[in-house]
Amino acid sequence: MDRLLIQAPSGAYHLHFGPGIWAELGELARSFDGVVVVSDQNVAALYAHRLPFPLCVLEPGEGTKSFDQVARLVDQWAELELSRYSLVVALGGGVIGDLVGFTASLFRRGISYVQVPTTLVAQVDSSVGGKTGINTPRGKNLVGAFYQPKGVFIDPAVLKTLPRREITNGLGEVLKYGVIQDGALFELVSRSIPAFYQVALDVVGPVIRRCVEIKGAIVAADETDWGLRRILNHGHTFGHALEQATGYRVYRHGEAVLLGMFLEARLAHYLGLLPAASLREIEAALLRVQLEYRFDQVDKQTLLRALGQDKKNRAGAISFILPREIGKVEEVLLSAAEVEKFWDEVMGA
Ligand code: ADP
Ligand code: ZN
Repeated sequence: MDRLLIQAPSGAYHLHFGPGIWAELGELARSFDGVVVVSDQNVAALYAHRLPFPLCVLEPGEGTKSFDQVARLVDQWAELELSRYSLVVALGGGVIGDLVGFTASLFRRGISYVQVPTTLVAQVDSSVGGKTGINTPRGKNLVGAFYQPKGVFIDPAVLKTLPRREITNGLGEVLKYGVIQDGALFELVSRSIPAFYQVALDVVGPVIRRCVEIKGAIVAADETDWGLRRILNHGHTFGHALEQATGYRVYRHGEAVLLGMFLEARLAHYLGLLPAASLREIEAALLRVQLEYRFDQVDKQTLLRALGQDKKNRAGAISFILPREIGKVEEVLLSAAEVEKFWDEVMGA
């Protein structure tokens, strides 16, 4: 069995890869005092039978990341008489992972949980690092906790049933790892976009493994987001602003990140940081992803307002993680006026 150790300061745990995870997780689960699996309707119908334990099934979709569902899960877990020594299994995409991890951090002041991520985004990003949380009407991920799982179990084969748009969504974060840390990974993925849409496991499997290796190392060095972990926000300054400025109705998160990477690569070139040849390589990769570039739906002033609220901002400046080359990024702080000037020039082109 292929494993990778993640050493987060608040606790070490393994990432497990491959088709053997189901049996391995089944065995681990039997050593706990009670187990429950939580999933959504789509994923449960496809994969819940592989984990023969009591099951809570929720509705798919971002709306499920709510206080209501936390309360509902707490109630169901109490009903199942889960103790402090029980285990909760989060089987699904980022929505299930975030909600279940957060609820696990609260139930009986903290109960063990594991992640079985089933979307590309969740496998390469959200299941690793211990960020959990829910949305409220006042903000996405407004409430949450850093709470590490006891393990993450990744079987890339489950991506075979994933809708196409969710592959695009995941490619945003995959290409991001290449730009921030690994030029060879970027090149490989850039050449292999069709293999992702076909879920060719000989390509996709090793890429996922490399992505979580990068994320695991970054998270181990900086568990709570103040230092090195900030580089994971490449593509996310513009990305988050695009999502927010369109009321979270136009783009999936990873799609917004793809557009954000496109804009931030251009910004890096505009500022003289990124050579033209590297910009062309990044643009070529992003153009191979099945995504329409729909910046025209975005109002500039709304976008600038959203950029002004980015959580990385400080001293009145907007923070960007920009590439110097493919595989190396740095933080740059810009005023709103500088960003507006760039936007006018790039979008006017
Ligand atoms: P994300 O991981 O991007 O946060 P979600 O958790 O909302 O996304 O999952 C996206 C959608 O994909 C949901 O409708 C979910 O039910 C569905 N889904 C998740 N994993 C699979 C899978 N392996 N096969 C088919 N559908 C899946
Ligand atoms: Zn992201």
